[in-house]
This record gives sequence, structure tokens and C-alpha cells, in this order.
Amino acid sequence: MKRLLPCRDCRRPVLWTITEAGKRMAVDPDPDPAGNTAVWRDGTGAVRSRRPSAELPLTGWERLYMPHVATCPTRTEQLALPGALPPGVTSLDAHRRKKRR
Ligand SMILES: [Zn+2]
Repeated sequence: MKRLLPCRDCRRPVLWTITEAGKRMAVDPDPDPAGNTAVWRDGTGAVRSRRPSAELPLTGWERLYMPHVATCPTRTEQLALPGALPPGVTSLDAHRRKKRR
């Protein structure tokens, strides 16, 4: 069972994962071999993600996914603007997510 929630920018369903830093990150809902994010489900049922490295390559229980910021049409537009903030650093994002609950 996947936890799909609409992206607040483009409204497409995305899979929300928890990164190693404990942050929420959206990835596209289906595995993508071209992606750069390893996704797996931990013992508590939480969907976790990390960046595979040479020291810690993809393991048998992980699948590659594409980060949604790479495919989100709205985000891509924003990133193309000069001076746009990199994804994941805007504190306003976290504030908005809390308010949605
Ligand atoms: Zn989106």
C-alpha cells in the first residue's frame, strides 16, 4: 500500500518518503531506473529514501525512484527562474504542510 498524496504544486499524486535527515521528500509514484533516489519501506511501515553512493549502493530491497522536484512542472518552472531557492530549503513549505493537517 502506497501513501500517495497530491503534490501541492501540480496536484499529481506523489509518494512521500522520509530522508535520512528526517525530512519529507516527494518522489514520483512508480519506480524509475533513471531516478537517483533509493526507496524502501522500513519495519514500521514508513517509506524511507536515501541517495545511493559508491560505498552504499542500491540493495535488494530498495528501488530507484525519481524525485518529484525533477518532474514537477510547477517546480521546474520555479527552478528556471533566476534566484529561485533550491528545493527543500524553504521553511514556508514545512509551515504549509503542517497547516494542511
Ligand atoms: Zn508537483
